Amino acid sequence: MSARILSGRPVAAALQARLAADVEELNRRGEHRQLVIVTATEDPSSASYVRTLQRFGAKIGVTVTVADLGPAASADRIRSTLQAAGANEDVHGIMLQTPLPEGTALADLGGAIAIGKDVDGANPASLARLLAGDPCFAPATAAAVVELLDHYGIGLAGRQVAVVGRSLVVGKPLLHLLLNRDATVTAAHSKTADLAAATRSAEVVVAAAGRAGLIGPAHVAPGSVVIDVGTNFDTAGELVGDVQADAVGTVAAALSPVPGGVGAVTTALLFRNTVYGLPHASGTQALPAAAGAAR
Ligand code: NAP
Repeated sequence: MSARILSGRPVAAALQARLAADVEELNRRGEHRQLVIVTATEDPSSASYVRTLQRFGAKIGVTVTVADLGPAASADRIRSTLQAAGANEDVHGIMLQTPLPEGTALADLGGAIAIGKDVDGANPASLARLLAGDPCFAPATAAAVVELLDHYGIGLAGRQVAVVGRSLVVGKPLLHLLLNRDATVTAAHSKTADLAAATRSAEVVVAAAGRAGLIGPAHVAPGSVVIDVGTNFDTAGELVGDVQADAVGTVAAALSPVPGGVGAVTTALLFRNTVYGLPHASGTQALPAAAGAAR
């Protein structure tokens, strides 16, 4: 492979260092930050991700509280737990873990998450704000793709970007984040007649289909940038992405792999949202001024 590897680790480490310093300052002021994670599943990958979030929170000094409602939780119970967290002024971020119990849906329950604490952009109203270009929390995985590209100085304005996948959680919000950054976007999905043609004409390809090895060397243009978002498990139980990394790496100029890519950035962004709150109109997120300080 000759492609430059766009690792998520330094991106996450830089975010973590800034967050740790700012949370220390907030804690000195007596302004503690808390992320509440609501789960209603026994899914082991969800449990493992919750542990990852708890570890990250512990490293930067943010309290992570898990409300584990169990897999039999009703929609009403989940909704009222989310609403209670929204009304609690000691809570700054709220996440609802998937999968959800049968008969309940993220698009429905997400509406119970207060917009200002919706750190993973699960409330449809957060998506509406994203479409309108208003300050909002975008789903963290979609935002992580843009953060990673920014970190490595890969410009988006005027560039041709193909996104493979159009889910509400990743593909669609990403398309809008890219449009808001003046990219020219192509949305590819399972009904796209010629996927390779759609992605080969792009300078940046983002694979978010959840299909192991879907993107091969014939799908990418020489010199392009490829970001893998897919998380799949192969027959040996190893985590693999949607991109055939070794083969694609001989054609692309740069590649963000799985594992080691956007995943760690996603976690850091959930905490950035929890610590700083909604972005300003300019899109920046920063430490709020101390109470009583000149603004
Ligand atoms: P999803 O809801 O299953 O959506 C998959 C999308 O990919 C759909 O739009 C689907 O098209 C499209 N697709 C499926 N097969 C395709 C094919 N053969 N060719 C072209 N498009 C195809 O999945 P998701 O929630 O968006 O997640 C996508 C991937 O990202 C998954 O692997 C997930 O595990 C991963 N993910 C990673 C992170 C992270 O932090 N790294 C976070 C969230 C998700 P249709 O719309 O036509 O069905």
